[in-house]
Amino acid sequence: MIKYHPKEEMLLLHAQGKLHLGLANAVSAHCELCTVCKHKLNALTEQLAQASLVDDKPLLEPTNTEMDFSSMMAQIMELPATPQTSHSTSRQTVQVNGYKYQLPRALSQQANKSWSGLGKISRMRLDADDDTARASLLHIDANGEIPEHTHTGREVTLLLAGYFEDEFSQYVPGDFIELDAQHKHSPKTANGCLCYTVVDAPLHFTKGISKLLNPIGELIY
Ligand SMILES: [Zn+2]
Repeated sequence: MIKYHPKEEMLLLHAQGKLHLGLANAVSAHCELCTVCKHKLNALTEQLAQASLVDDKPLLEPTNTEMDFSSMMAQIMELPATPQTSHSTSRQTVQVNGYKYQLPRALSQQANKSWSGLGKISRMRLDADDDTARASLLHIDANGEIPEHTHTGREVTLLLAGYFEDEFSQYVPGDFIELDAQHKHSPKTANGCLCYTVVDAPLHFTKGISKLLNPIGELIY
């Protein structure tokens, strides 16, 4: 079962269209895998559409559109989910090191680039449409591991297929993991896994000779 979800604040920013492409794709792809967040997002989108209709009216009740976030979330949870919109994009299949995966629609259009690899780690760079953030598909072969590191910025990892674990938890497909400089971890996978990652600063390796690990860092960031 999916345990890790985007924060409600991030869902709201997504509904408002304020996330850069890299994060927007992460949230969209998560919502394809998670019915809970899909319904929240649909309700938020509907709520925003209604609020914008209110905005267009003359300023009769100017405080009415200013709703605090928790009451807004409480309200939208009461709303029925809007019908799912039909997706025209077909789901793309990617192959890497003998593994084959079907991608969420949100990532399918971009996933036509080549893989770069180093040992058991492979990366396909995708577009983040942001000055500092970098988005990638990241594959780790069976029994692969990323050396222990922290993040100088934010790292969002959406597990798409397979399983991995780190010092904090074990993750299943759909888990949306957000880490920052406070978190030190070394993800490892027993059977191989495919993730979508959005990283907005280089990794900082906390063990071994970081100079030797730089190529891995460059692959992941
Ligand atoms: Zn979710």
